[in-house]
Amino acid sequence: MPGVLDATSRNDALRKMANGPLDILVVGGGITGAGAALDAASRGLRVGLVESRDLAAGTSSRSSKLIHGGLRYLEQRDFKLVREALRERDLLVSKLAPHLVRPLPFLYPLYKKVVERPYVGAGLVLYDAMEGTKRPVPHHRHLTARGALGRAPALRPERLAGAMVYYDAQVDDARHTLTVARTAAAHEAIIVTRASATELLRSADGTRVTGARVRDEETGRTLDVAARAVVVCAGVWTDPVHEAGGVRAGYQVRMSKGVHLVMPRSAIDASTGMIIRTEKSVLFFIPWGDDRWIVGTTDTDWTGDRAEPAATGEDVDYILAQANRVLEKPLTRSDVTGVYAGLRPLVAAAEGTPTTKLSREHVVDAPVPGLVSIAGGKFTTYRLMARDVIDAAVAGFEGEPVPESVTDQLPLLGADGLPAVRASARRIAEDYDVPTDAVEHLITRYGSLVTEVLGHIRRDRSLSGRLADGYPYLRAEVAYAVSHEGALHVEDVLARRVRLLIESPDAGVSAAPEVGAIMGSLLGWGRRRRAAEVRRYVEFAETSAEALRSPAGLPPAPAAGKLAVPA
Ligand SMILES: Cc1cc2nc3c(=O)[nH]c(=O)nc-3n(C[C@H](O)[C@H](O)[C@H](O)COP(=O)(O)OP(=O)(O)OC[C@H]3O[C@@H](n4cnc5c(N)ncnc54)[C@H](O)[C@@H]3O)c2cc1C
Repeated sequence: MPGVLDATSRNDALRKMANGPLDILVVGGGITGAGAALDAASRGLRVGLVESRDLAAGTSSRSSKLIHGGLRYLEQRDFKLVREALRERDLLVSKLAPHLVRPLPFLYPLYKKVVERPYVGAGLVLYDAMEGTKRPVPHHRHLTARGALGRAPALRPERLAGAMVYYDAQVDDARHTLTVARTAAAHEAIIVTRASATELLRSADGTRVTGARVRDEETGRTLDVAARAVVVCAGVWTDPVHEAGGVRAGYQVRMSKGVHLVMPRSAIDASTGMIIRTEKSVLFFIPWGDDRWIVGTTDTDWTGDRAEPAATGEDVDYILAQANRVLEKPLTRSDVTGVYAGLRPLVAAAEGTPTTKLSREHVVDAPVPGLVSIAGGKFTTYRLMARDVIDAAVAGFEGEPVPESVTDQLPLLGADGLPAVRASARRIAEDYDVPTDAVEHLITRYGSLVTEVLGHIRRDRSLSGRLADGYPYLRAEVAYAVSHEGALHVEDVLARRVRLLIESPDAGVSAAPEVGAIMGSLLGWGRRRRAAEVRRYVEFAETSAEALRSPAGLPPAPAAGKLAVPA
């Protein structure tokens, strides 16, 4: 079936890759690699993608989850980046992924009456003016202090001089990445997760890259994949991938860690997102689903393990302190239910440049014939990054010219027919005998593919129940993650297909046995394998929540004692 990723066809996919040759082999299944696979496949090329862990397991599941122009880049005079990003935002909201990318208002409180309003106001006029002519998101507005407190009673009223409201957009980053990869698969790209490129293959004279050696991380087997071009989209892993291939690229990647806190909606009384300035950058208060906030972020150099960047107690306290500068009722660690950290892949500049000052624009390099790599950029501009890196890859192809990128005309899976599906939510609910709000929830995640998810419920009624109390996810979503979304392990489901890892105070641990059972019944896992999968998830979740337990002189967070697998 087009666009289906499942464990049972994984072996066939690996075999198909090995039988090659491919036109393009993409290394890395974050948003950049998924985007590159879609760009190339939709130009009619033969494409394979290998991802060491799971789709979006790196930075692409750990961002602020904003599709934005980046208001603060205006201050850095990065006008090109802002303009491009705003256009991409509008394209995603209106055409490419309206089921996944939603407009979101942000309140920008003003504290210096005379200077700040004209300065920020002018910035927002420019921000709005940089969009295309069709506006899928509203214009910015000015508010008085009273108006600001009406929308955000949580703000401390002293010194508040007023506020601006402007719009950006929001996305579930991991789900978006997965959907781009599935859309690429629908255009015949071969997508294989838990498979790493370990070496680059060379022509006999050593002057050309001709493919990559790939290790299947599930079995340990290796295979050689021949391709006319290898496209490295490895984010913060770019340098080690280059090194393993004996390649000296024209740039290096610096890692900057960004931490976010997750807390319940009740912790901050506001009906809108908020952005405040900090000494070094900005802090976002981002509504997440109906019940939570995401608050962040930080920006510090990182030199540790790329796979599991660790938030520290200091990071947590820094974010709380910044937030408390503007909040009437201060937040404490006991308000924090989740924490996550991600690594920005920034293109390196001279030693000593603070990471906050490095440009967020992307760089494409072709250090050796047959090899192209890309780094930098941001989630919002992934489609342009993908276009640029594939343009560079096919520039070296001999023979027929390759068509130009068409992804600006290509709605992602689930976008087609969305208005009709939204209008039919009640009828669909009746047909599948589930509550209408469950269907509405599924539409925000799967768009017009909603009935594929509900198909699992028709086959097995027990899958109509909620996966965890107080969360909208249905058990059927776990089954769908396996049958259509390439989930191979419990972590793939709880960390990225549903977001209980960051949303729930126990990091999804109490749901892990249920997830293991549903996955196991579809993947043929015995009792021991299920138990091992659950154990592996608990270890992973404990590491992720470590920062909430670190002392720093503060009381332990409530999550501490809860990371035990229920009997
Ligand atoms: C804290 C934070 C907040 C952010 N907020 C925003 C935001 O709000 N909006 C925005 O637009 N951008 C944001 N960004 C930036 C954005 O998240 C990143 O630019 C983007 O996710 C990078 O995607 P990527 O595909 O390049 O890298 P990644 O997502 O890291 O993907 C690289 C992949 O390559 C795989 N890989 C590595 N080596 C190999 C190998 N040898 N073989 C196979 N696979 C391999 C890795 O496993 C990984 O999955 C934020 C970033 C951070 C850190």
